[in-house]
Amino acid sequence: MNIVITGANRGIGLELVRQCLTRGDTVHAGARAPEHAAELSALVQGSGGRLHVHALDVANEASVRAFAAAIPGPVHLLINNAGVRSRPDGLSDLDTDDLTRTFQVNAVAALRVTQALLPQLRAAGGAKVASISSNLGSVTDNSWGGAYGYRMSKAALNMAMRSLGHDLKQDGILAFALSPGWVRTDMGGSEAPTSVEMSVSGLLTVLGHLSAEDTGGFFDFEGKRLPW
Ligand code: NDP
Repeated sequence: MNIVITGANRGIGLELVRQCLTRGDTVHAGARAPEHAAELSALVQGSGGRLHVHALDVANEASVRAFAAAIPGPVHLLINNAGVRSRPDGLSDLDTDDLTRTFQVNAVAALRVTQALLPQLRAAGGAKVASISSNLGSVTDNSWGGAYGYRMSKAALNMAMRSLGHDLKQDGILAFALSPGWVRTDMGGSEAPTSVEMSVSGLLTVLGHLSAEDTGGFFDFEGKRLPW
């Protein structure tokens, strides 16, 4: 499979690259600053030519266009993983500029990257688009409030995946919002209960099982359907 992964230099993105390479996929990895992505670059050597690292700032239109132009088709799986968690993100210390930036990266960018890669996704005949969302994007599950920018951005991302599920059906492209759980990364912190290896292994297994009847849905890394 040819797989595109954004935000691939650390955390969940880097582990996605590792596990996809291990199972034999070809990976196009996007990183904001490849020259500083030491762990990602170190994987290139042992990849037998299957790992290609590209500069990609998902919040920058020109960067996304250049990235898409450099990716050959077909693309069988696009994983929109790049994301930010703004802190503080509560009502009393709300920073609306930061909230808007969070929205751009977490919600708008996934749609922008997907749109830019549509020719390569269509060429695959049965491609999947997965955007890494969060339980915090669930309106139903919001039992304690706060996290305005993050929650709003992930809820919007979910809606984008829902619409893509409808719009891309005719092209045979399936779209999903996936929650990785609470994961021990820079974003998730050291208290998180789930290792990055376990989360990513779960996400890839779930992605392998999701089919046309699931398109536009929201699932966690153990395959459970999540409420909007
Ligand atoms: P990290 O903070 O460890 O990594 C975030 C990644 O996104 C980095 O590679 C970062 O690159 C990249 N990124 C941020 N902004 C941009 C941008 N503008 N362009 C390109 N890349 C960018 O987070 P995680 O690995 O934990 O998170 C990955 C995804 O999972 C995110 O979407 C996050 O919201 C989601 N998630 C994570 C949870 C967790 O518990 N960890 C829980 C729920 C969801 P750079 O190094 O350049 O900043």
